[in-house]
Amino acid sequence: MVRLRARLARSQSTLGKGLLDLLSRDRLDDDVWDEIEETLITADVGVAPTRAMVDELRTKVKVLGTRSPAEVRGLLREQLLAQINPGLDRTLHTSAPGERPAVLLVVGVNGTGKTTTTGKLARALIGDGKTVVLGAADTFRAAAADQLQTWGDRVGAAVVRGPEGGDPASVAFDAVARGMADKVDVVIVDTAGRLHTKTGLMDELGKVKRVIEKKAQVDEVLLVLDATTGQNGMRQAQVFAEVVNITGIALTKLDGTAKGGIVISVQRELGVPVKLAGLGEGPDDLAPFDPEVFVDALLG
Ligand code: GDP
Repeated sequence: MVRLRARLARSQSTLGKGLLDLLSRDRLDDDVWDEIEETLITADVGVAPTRAMVDELRTKVKVLGTRSPAEVRGLLREQLLAQINPGLDRTLHTSAPGERPAVLLVVGVNGTGKTTTTGKLARALIGDGKTVVLGAADTFRAAAADQLQTWGDRVGAAVVRGPEGGDPASVAFDAVARGMADKVDVVIVDTAGRLHTKTGLMDELGKVKRVIEKKAQVDEVLLVLDATTGQNGMRQAQVFAEVVNITGIALTKLDGTAKGGIVISVQRELGVPVKLAGLGEGPDDLAPFDPEVFVDALLG
């Protein structure tokens, strides 16, 4: 994995310039609040949390009688951090009790970066000395299984796949069975993300989970969310959250967006912590999510 700090510093994932310009004015005039509000909303922080933060910021600034941009920046930093909730447990559950492998289910809409994140995560775990089996439970697109196979070959993980058009749940079951037989540490199951109908998705993902649970407990259900899709991605995320019990979020493509504020909306709406940040297409472009580093990068 890469370091979040180093990578975000090089990316555009920052409100930085706009806010910095606003806050670096010699004195803060009243227009600044509207402009801060606009900047945060543009960055997908979400209207409700933005309003709450800006109102509080205004009050605090008034109470403290400060007009110093550096102090205001510090107050905003505190508020953003509070919104991201640094106290949430962001541990990725990659160890299971006893003999069995940990089982991770990776879900999300197609194109968000599920397969890539699965590959990168396998790479990180293998780098930590763990053994990994990947399950290609997206059986609807042959290319999806091929893509996962490429990742498996690249990072040194066995890939269990089924026939095209086969039953995703049976591939998931086979992957877990293989993981148990081979006594590996972690099984990661990459699923299909067809948002055809909610019932269809529910049936499909629900079955995958139920069938896996005949063999082993699912330790982590990771929802992959593309940070560049903003509030639209949020709505999709909500559908998944209604269908499966999400335990963590991997927010991808943070390297290519100034809309990182989605972290706040997604945690607020889903009540689930962002655990991983996707920072590029390469095998090492994944980092554990760190609220402090993230907020500092956001503020530029
Ligand atoms: P899936 O359909 O959800 O499995 O999505 P893929 O893993 O195939 O990813 C879709 C596209 O997004 C691919 O071109 C990936 O290389 C790209 N991608 C995935 N994660 C990231 C990321 O963190 N940053 C960038 N820049 N691209 C990413």
